[in-house]
Amino acid sequence: MSASILIVEDEREIADALAYNLENAGYRTTVAETGETALEQLRQQTLPDLILLDLMLPDVQGTEICRQVRSTPRTRGIPVVMLTAKGEEIDRVVGFEVGADDYVTKPFSVREVVLRVGAILRRSHTEEPAKSDTEFGALRMDHDGHRAWVEGRELSLTALEFRLLDTLLSRRGRVQTREVLLEDVWNMSSELTTRTVDTHVKRLRQKLGSAGAYIETLRGVGYRFRDRPESTDA
Ligand code: CA
Repeated sequence: MSASILIVEDEREIADALAYNLENAGYRTTVAETGETALEQLRQQTLPDLILLDLMLPDVQGTEICRQVRSTPRTRGIPVVMLTAKGEEIDRVVGFEVGADDYVTKPFSVREVVLRVGAILRRSHTEEPAKSDTEFGALRMDHDGHRAWVEGRELSLTALEFRLLDTLLSRRGRVQTREVLLEDVWNMSSELTTRTVDTHVKRLRQKLGSAGAYIETLRGVGYRFRDRPESTDA
């Protein structure tokens, strides 16, 4: 059965455009125009596979809905993509505090949203059962052997760099804030040293050479490993 998307958006034209295009792309959609309606839907027996969530709603804030989704066991695993205005608290939205999986800034192209939804659903359905070998464009990784190659040339990576690359690659197509990377790669949750992440990503990119472009910088937010080796910027 095709994946179902819950669109939580109070602006009717935006909701309609999203629903129309997502359905054309083969998804089923439901629209909730208020936060309360959305929360009501999430109490139903059938849950959506992904939630597109507007940050600014007339009643309950999108961030609050996302927090509730994350703190409720039966909805915790549903990917949430936040629709935000540019610069609107993005680091908080995708960080620990709110916990969205990704975001799209308004005004967005509907095509971009559909691509993002597809990328996230692919990821959440395949949750990488740590295959021992991954190939991604010019990059090849041997997870068991902790080795990596770009265009057949073996990289000399530190254990930390390998873990950083592995983490980014396994979550490709999804934004990772510095805070999340610190927690998951360095096993520490310190706000003091997010610059550490930048330093290591920079060094890792240099070592990756041509494959360094797979790691995209989202200014003020964090990093995202590309969903596909080719750039999809249109
Ligand atoms: Ca709105």
